[in-house]
Amino acid sequence: MRLRGKTAFVTAAGQGIGRAIAEAFAAEGAAVTATDVNADLLDGLEATTYPLDVTDRAALQAAVRGASPDILANCAGIVHGGTVLDITDEAFDAALNLNVRAQMHAIQAALPAMLERGTGSIVNIASVASTILAAPNRCLYGLSKSAVIGLTKSVAVDFVTTGVRCNCICPGTVDSPSMHARLRATGDYDTALKAFIARQPMGRIGTPQEVAALAVYLASDESAFTTGQAHIIDGGWAAT
Ligand code: NAD
Repeated sequence: MRLRGKTAFVTAAGQGIGRAIAEAFAAEGAAVTATDVNADLLDGLEATTYPLDVTDRAALQAAVRGASPDILANCAGIVHGGTVLDITDEAFDAALNLNVRAQMHAIQAALPAMLERGTGSIVNIASVASTILAAPNRCLYGLSKSAVIGLTKSVAVDFVTTGVRCNCICPGTVDSPSMHARLRATGDYDTALKAFIARQPMGRIGTPQEVAALAVYLASDESAFTTGQAHIIDGGWAAT
């Protein structure tokens, strides 16, 4: 029970990485608040659950302040496809609002109580598609996840002596409902799946549970000497 006695707040906990993180936090003894814009997806979680759209600043900050968590896991994110030539202002705003601004708003709401207690761990979900590597046709997504790494480092440095830590996780390709939707959207699921698998030198896609295991480590006191880092979990993709 590596998170016994701690409270955790998880966004986008309905499916994929967010759900696996909420499950793993609960399994390690944390009292979890699990939220998602789609409330139906939260069924079956061992957590306090309610619907929350992270782009609703007032609702997000009220929820985070109310939970006053020891651990904040910012998981909500959306993938836009395309090159720089495809980015519209609308898509840019949508990507940055969901992938970056919402994480910042949640951190702003969680930090004061963490600082008062002198302890806290913030875990942001970024991606290897960021400053770490450029995935083809992921320009807007990659630039938004690059901003998550920058946000993570700044929060870590500004509060480095306070007992509050901030790290981000940079997954490679991970099995999730939206990943399958992206494969279907190519029109040739099987070929696209082969290409996604080939990106990982390990020859497979990662599981949400593998990402959640890293999140548990970063949330727990085991990682007390780690802050401001982009933790890569990608089957060796970024090493090639
Ligand atoms: P997913 O994309 O399948 O599910 C995303 C969840 O987010 C859904 O439950 C959805 O209802 C919720 N959501 C969407 N908009 C929301 C909003 N406005 N407010 C609250 N919740 C909202 O899950 P995933 O693929 O595991 O992605 C989770 C995170 O991991 C994202 O930040 C994503 O960018 C990141 N990531 C995923 C992969 C991957 O290959 N799957 C790789 C790297 C990073």
